[in-house]
Amino acid sequence: AKNEGPGSLKFYSKEIFERVSSLLNMEKDLRNAIKENQFILYFQPHISLETRGIRGVEALIRWVHPDRGIIAPFEFIPVLEETGLIIEVGKWVVEQVCHYISKNEFCDREEIGISFNVSPEQFKQKGFEKMLIDIVQKKGVDPKRLRIEVTESALMTDIEDSLNKLKVLNDFGFNISIDDFGTGYSSLSYLKKIPASHLKIDMSFVRGLPDNRDDVEIIKAIIALAKNLGKKTVAEGVETREQLECLDKFGVDEVQGYFFSKPIPKEDCMKYIERYHSD
Ligand code: C2E
Ligand code: CA
Ligand code: CA
Ligand code: CA
Repeated sequence: AKNEGPGSLKFYSKEIFERVSSLLNMEKDLRNAIKENQFILYFQPHISLETRGIRGVEALIRWVHPDRGIIAPFEFIPVLEETGLIIEVGKWVVEQVCHYISKNEFCDREEIGISFNVSPEQFKQKGFEKMLIDIVQKKGVDPKRLRIEVTESALMTDIEDSLNKLKVLNDFGFNISIDDFGTGYSSLSYLKKIPASHLKIDMSFVRGLPDNRDDVEIIKAIIALAKNLGKKTVAEGVETREQLECLDKFGVDEVQGYFFSKPIPKEDCMKYIERYHSD
């Protein structure tokens, strides 16, 4: 009973106070980060198991903090989402990706596209699809070179709105990938209607390969489902040769993970692509 009474109340409110003030500080830092251009994109290759070549790269945001160094997205994306700042940062991501494509970065290879992530907060904005089309047109980029990654759970929140937006984007020529697939309870009847070209199998299932029977069955089922719907599959989080061989045997189309490369800065990724294709 020592910890009860007024003292503990003080303890809890102090904790809450610290949490709130650290969030407020973070928000202030993030506003400053936007002003000072402290965000950069790292890239991780997507390897095609059919051609064995690099099919594209995924852009993953990092915050280069002046004191703390490189900060991973799990630390700041939630704050960007809560504060609405994700709208501005998300737009920057698309502009940056389009800039790289229009400047013929990534080794001038036409077949290499860039995937980028869209937060649910961003996706549900009115005019999201128009924002993307405007940027692509302004930069003169072929939308075929772009792959939009939207999570399964973001798509299923307001299915009619999602279908409308994705139809416009797909008709315009964008590729669409359903991210973290298998974690979001898709309604299969809607899945059929979603004009996505790719299903991205969540890394939590890849983790269990090759031994976990449940993960093996789930991955096989997702691949069979994708084939039936005429969609391709990408497996993320591939770390070992055993996982890769297993996914290859099951018929996954593309793989991505530390086994090939961690997400790395653009110049390093361009070198990686050159080396990969010359070996
Ligand atoms: P995600 O889209 O599911 O991205 C995959 C995450 O798995 C990335 O983490 C990537 O670095 C990591 N990863 C890739 N291969 C492996 C592997 O073999 N093993 C392990 N353990 N991890 C691997 P990252 O870069 O920290 O990004 C985390 C999440 O942050 C992303 O998950 C995505 O939801 C979000 N995110 C990243 N960039 C952006 C962005 O530009 N906009 C938005 N809205 N969200 C972003
Ligand atoms: Ca992703
Ligand atoms: Ca993912
Ligand atoms: Ca994931």
